[in-house]
Amino acid sequence: RPYVAAADRYERFGYRRVGDSGILLSPLSLGLWWNFGDNRTFDSQREILRHAFDNGIIHFDLANNYGPPAGAAEENFGRMLRKDFKPYRNELVISSKAGWDMWSGPHGTLGSRKYLVASCDSSLEKLGLDYVDIFYSHRFDPKTPLEETIGALDSLVRAGKALYVGISSYSAERTAEAKAIAKELGTPLVIHQPSYNMLNPWVEHGLLETLQKEKMGAIAFTPLAQGLLTDKYLTTTNVERQGGRRSLDAQLTEENLKKVRSLNEVAQRRGQTLAQMAIAWLLRDGAATSVLIGASSTKQLDENLGALKNTEFTQAELEEISAI
Ligand code: NDP
Repeated sequence: RPYVAAADRYERFGYRRVGDSGILLSPLSLGLWWNFGDNRTFDSQREILRHAFDNGIIHFDLANNYGPPAGAAEENFGRMLRKDFKPYRNELVISSKAGWDMWSGPHGTLGSRKYLVASCDSSLEKLGLDYVDIFYSHRFDPKTPLEETIGALDSLVRAGKALYVGISSYSAERTAEAKAIAKELGTPLVIHQPSYNMLNPWVEHGLLETLQKEKMGAIAFTPLAQGLLTDKYLTTTNVERQGGRRSLDAQLTEENLKKVRSLNEVAQRRGQTLAQMAIAWLLRDGAATSVLIGASSTKQLDENLGALKNTEFTQAELEEISAI
């Protein structure tokens, strides 16, 4: 049965401008890092993606290495685009990135012009697209001149392969440098994608301020600390449910679980689940433009969308969260 998107999909919430650019994002965006590789069936992926778009999510975030295995998420999303979303291409904001390890040899990682341009071409081929809406330098490369990395992003824009560009996990200082180079070149470097959640507020020590000053947007990744800021680990460490996310192991400490339980009490008082409060908190004034969630079911997605019902915090709540 051909997919027809819900007619009322744009009536659910407002869209948020990325810095002072012309592009807007849904407050929630969906990342395809973990649940859209060959580890999940086409049908389960399709159900989540359709549900997201039907509920007003327009931004889908990818990278060359998302899977597993690396590259599979772009291939699967490409198939999904052909089957379901082609008529809606102009409504979608699709991003990809290069920066982490992708192929063998010295030019399959980091930030050279050689890697970024080749990787963008390869992503476009997998996705079956002529352009992505946002292409990111996935991490700062300490050895390649920043002029080269940002110059490569500029070339991609000029070649019509990316409409806007972004940087991910750059420090405040590198961000300001990158923006200065981009300004000189006339490159639309409009967005930064940092990790940001209640257990990891590093961006509040300089980066958010820089982004505001440079009039750039921020899209927060791992908003739920990969699932730690949800009901999942409240009563048990629930390790068996991790499904192989080794990156989460180190965070499952008694200290973190104690914080999670205290945060959950604040959430309950607000009439929200912990996941909902974690998302709402990132969308409060002066924080993120959009929150980039992962989800392995439509149930999780619905719960997370519920966060948008209340993104206001009292000063007392903010102080309590900060103290925890
Ligand atoms: P989250 O912190 O949102 O964690 C997502 C995971 O949390 C889900 O896969 C699911 O785990 C669990 N979860 C989500 N909602 C709920 C819920 N309501 N109740 C219980 N559990 C829930 O984000 P990710 O760490 O997955 O990152 C999100 C996106 O950010 C990525 O897909 C990617 O696009 C981007 N990203 C970017 C990086 C970068 O370097 N730029 C790095 C990392 C991520 P489960 O699957 O086990 O059910």
